[in-house]
Amino acid sequence: MRYQTTSKRVQLLKRAAKEYSWSTEVIGKSSNGVDIFVFRNKPNKSVDICAWSLMHGNEPTGFDALLYLMQSITHQSWAICPIINPDGADLFQRFNSNGVDINRDARELNTLEGLSLSNWVISEVPKLALNLHDQRTCFYPKTGHTPASFSLLAPKGSRQHKTKSQLTAMIYCSWMVDKLKKDYVNSLAKFDDSFYPSAFGEYFQESNIPTITLETGISLDDWSRKRVHLSLGKLLSTLDSEFESSLSSLSFSSYENLPKNANDAQDWICITLKGPVEIRLTETVKDGQYSCYWRVVGPGDLNRKYWLISEANPGLLELVPNQIISNQLALALGGEPVSNLGLFDTR
Ligand SMILES: [Zn+2]
Repeated sequence: MRYQTTSKRVQLLKRAAKEYSWSTEVIGKSSNGVDIFVFRNKPNKSVDICAWSLMHGNEPTGFDALLYLMQSITHQSWAICPIINPDGADLFQRFNSNGVDINRDARELNTLEGLSLSNWVISEVPKLALNLHDQRTCFYPKTGHTPASFSLLAPKGSRQHKTKSQLTAMIYCSWMVDKLKKDYVNSLAKFDDSFYPSAFGEYFQESNIPTITLETGISLDDWSRKRVHLSLGKLLSTLDSEFESSLSSLSFSSYENLPKNANDAQDWICITLKGPVEIRLTETVKDGQYSCYWRVVGPGDLNRKYWLISEANPGLLELVPNQIISNQLALALGGEPVSNLGLFDTR
């Protein structure tokens, strides 16, 4: 489910923690004074893997995967923070409640959320840290023809050279690619590894904690990301059972050979009498109500990648930027009503 209030999410986590014997700890508070929780499956052991999600509040797939992990049989020692940005998650927005991107605050630590994340992960010294995000629908492997369902990055720990932590993270990334390619062979990409020192991936990598940024995206049959959240949950569960052996290959070629991510795909191009029009899937939450709709962006570009294409009924009026496409209009445009994309399903 793409949106739930933070209190509902916390309720789900606490229920899973109770049922599957994970300990619950508050590591800090958000700008609005909301608790930030960490859950541990082996509270008396040193931590093997730290993972966190919802650093950007409109990117919930990692949360779903971590909840799946909590309900699985686990062997390694995990410490997870499924909602690092509780205020942003409640508003379904990228930023915290002060409008700050936490992932640009790893050095200054001006945000309470960034400070909590930094103190927590640095104090655990895990063998691996997983930074879970969703990516926009415009990403795709440069050489491919489908959206990137998974993008991986072993961030740089130094501007000049590959640190030991980055090399270790690259081996884990390769292991992940080998697992994921069975189901996502043409939908895997590598992020550009430019050095962003204010991002947490770079900061932890520099602090000798092998760190991976893992971003989940759509597939053409999975716009709601339900399948990808299950795949990510299963990947984490397999990582748990194969954690020791996953490092044994000492090879990072599967990761290095991934195509780079490109980011200029359009969701839907509709050919009208006035030319191609770009239409984008848009998600918003207002007063606690989630909505998802097609929205006109402007002129489309047939030379750029697109995921859907249709031809409008010639009798239709002109489409204007920001126009919201009703289900009825989507059909008249030869397209798919959003309700067919499974985004409104609840569970
Ligand atoms: Zn993100």
